[in-house]
Amino acid sequence: MSILKSLCRPDEMSAILKLKFGTSSSLYTAKNDDLEYSDDLKYCYQTLNAVSRSFAVVIRQLPKELSISVCLFYLILRALDSIEDDMNCPKKRKVNLLRNFYTYNYQEDWTLTHIGDKEEYRELLANYNKVTKSFLSIDKKYQDIITEICRKMGDGMADFVETEIHSVKDYDLYCHHVAGLVGVGLSKIFAASEIEDYNLQFQDMLSNSMGLFLQKTNIIRDYKEDLEEKRTFWPKEIWSVYASNLNVFSENPNSKNAASCLNHLINNALAHVIDCLEYLKKIKHHRIFKFCAIPQVMAIATLCKAYNNPKVFVENVKIRKGLAAKLILNTNTIQDVIKTYEEMILTIERKISDNTPKSKETIELIQHIKAYFKVNRQELVSL
Ligand code: MG
Repeated sequence: MSILKSLCRPDEMSAILKLKFGTSSSLYTAKNDDLEYSDDLKYCYQTLNAVSRSFAVVIRQLPKELSISVCLFYLILRALDSIEDDMNCPKKRKVNLLRNFYTYNYQEDWTLTHIGDKEEYRELLANYNKVTKSFLSIDKKYQDIITEICRKMGDGMADFVETEIHSVKDYDLYCHHVAGLVGVGLSKIFAASEIEDYNLQFQDMLSNSMGLFLQKTNIIRDYKEDLEEKRTFWPKEIWSVYASNLNVFSENPNSKNAASCLNHLINNALAHVIDCLEYLKKIKHHRIFKFCAIPQVMAIATLCKAYNNPKVFVENVKIRKGLAAKLILNTNTIQDVIKTYEEMILTIERKISDNTPKSKETIELIQHIKAYFKVNRQELVSL
């Protein structure tokens, strides 16, 4: 159990306990069983907990109106993704469901059974009418944003049902459809709430990078799981440099080619780091900042653990529970984020071996990121 690995790290154990029992607990473990909430909305929050612990934590602590809209946004996209991920669903039916999914949010009795590769996803789709009813009760300005993103994402996912991710360009496009659009939608939701700046809704490029960084981290981390499910998201243009097929790495996890391919993909993901920090600098509200920043620091910590690590090819590499708790509690300002990024980037730098094809490029990229830290530290200190 990963909690045991934090036992010999007192700061991490104290973060776990603080998160569970401390003064911050009401922020992060609140049940949101607000008396004013309808039974449908209560169901949505319970389901949010069941389908994603990490996002449930950051969604719950948002200001109330935003928390509800973002919770529903998350569940709707989770349902769409459950259709995409079900490898037993015939392709023609899947494409049809994906392209029409946004219309189901307006059909109060629509549900779907026997779809989803995990029990909690099947349960969500079987009770989807509860999500729909809650969705129809939020402000139309949020409904319109969610619908537009849901339509674009469904179309994008459908485009990739028949095509594999071949080029790096395909990889970026796929990640845009499934995650970049989430970033774009969230920026529009934040701006619409008037809590964040009006102009945030126009930051499509930076919002997209926020999503791409998280998605690419998951795709890298989930190599083994996806292989077992007979799915693959690693772009062929990259892995074919190092192997004739993607299974080869799991058979020879300690080979130089496996490490080179992994480091190549991490190098590709690290290219989004500066955009993500630029986006976070624009966020003003403390809880929205935490919502955006916590998944990003978790992602850089995951990439740091995955870099040059053969375990990626045999298991799902995860950060320690204690480190996750520490990051949740200690990520409050842009300075905190830069501190964590700097720590992780320096660790990656120490793990670079000179003889993989992308090493030189990664060293240059890291120099560039370090220069960014330096300028920003001065800039933030002089504020
Ligand atoms: Mg998916």
